[in-house]
Amino acid sequence: MSDVRNVIIIGSGPAGYTSALYTARASLKPLVFEGAVTAGGALMNTTEVENFPGYRDGIMGPELMDNMRAQAERFGAELVPDDIVSVDLTGDVKTVTDSEGNVHRARAVIVTTGSQHRKLGLPREDALSGRGVSWCATCDGFFFRDQDIAVVGGGDTALEEATFLSRFARSVTVVHRRDSLRASKAMQERAFADPKISFAWDSAVEAIHGDPKLTGVTLRDTTTGEQRELAVTGLFIAIGHDPRTELFTGQLDLDAEGYLKVEAPSTRTNIPGVFGAGDVVDHTYRQAITAAGTGCAAALDAERYLASLA
Ligand code: FAD
Repeated sequence: MSDVRNVIIIGSGPAGYTSALYTARASLKPLVFEGAVTAGGALMNTTEVENFPGYRDGIMGPELMDNMRAQAERFGAELVPDDIVSVDLTGDVKTVTDSEGNVHRARAVIVTTGSQHRKLGLPREDALSGRGVSWCATCDGFFFRDQDIAVVGGGDTALEEATFLSRFARSVTVVHRRDSLRASKAMQERAFADPKISFAWDSAVEAIHGDPKLTGVTLRDTTTGEQRELAVTGLFIAIGHDPRTELFTGQLDLDAEGYLKVEAPSTRTNIPGVFGAGDVVDHTYRQAITAAGTGCAAALDAERYLASLA
């Protein structure tokens, strides 16, 4: 059994590395579990990031994450490229177990495990991520000026994305597998009134085309099975996110969609000494800078909690 650490951080996106930087600079010697295959978080799967402040010419996602990682390490954060597979967060000393069965103990735990955007599960979807296929209109809309794009989904997020994208795009086709939307009435009315937005009803994306960039998709009519081609250079997939909270079920309070509940504006969870930050908590903003911001807040909350124990 290991010594009792001050703080363990689970997750390595902008939230995790920012928590690591702050707790390391506060001399708390954080131990960070980065994840085995996904160290660095969601931005490892993208190309250019133009909206992270401080990089006036933009920066590639993996380079931004390497910088955050190196900055945290410079101040003494201990980084481990492994998954945490179980946790016991009750009590003053919390334990987390890695994939090799090693048990690590700490007085405070910061959860920054992010959320997974749902995919269509089609060939070329991953290969074209950042090359026309996107999961975030706020992040990437700007790249699609005067282009024809499609948004997949029928909920509030899909229509919000479509309405936002119509500012830039020449046309936006909302592809929805049914003939009516789940989105709120107000959101629907706004989308219906937008002359740039049209709807492909009863339609599912069957295939994604393009190399090295997206050139179009094949749509299948969900009632007749008929196929047709839609030429688009942007495809925004807005069919939901799954917060990575399975590990914490039964210990930490989750909301109806499975996101970690915190006592906002703090990052405190229902268990003293356990804090949550980034996209595992946030289903509203979902940006690198907001994840980093709440990662900072979680570090400061953990510092104060540890000071209160002394
Ligand atoms: P994540 O970045 O998701 O990181 C969480 C990480 O925690 C996981 O990847 C994994 O490594 C680790 N983890 C999970 N479970 C465990 C476990 N059990 N044990 C150990 N580690 C674990 N935002 C912008 O601001 N600008 C952009 O241009 C932009 N582009 C994007 C492009 C794409 C393709 C995507 C998917 C997202 C984009 N975003 C962008 C959104 C941004 O990436 C997220 O908001 C941000 O990464 C969330 O940070 P996070 O630290 O909360 O979680």
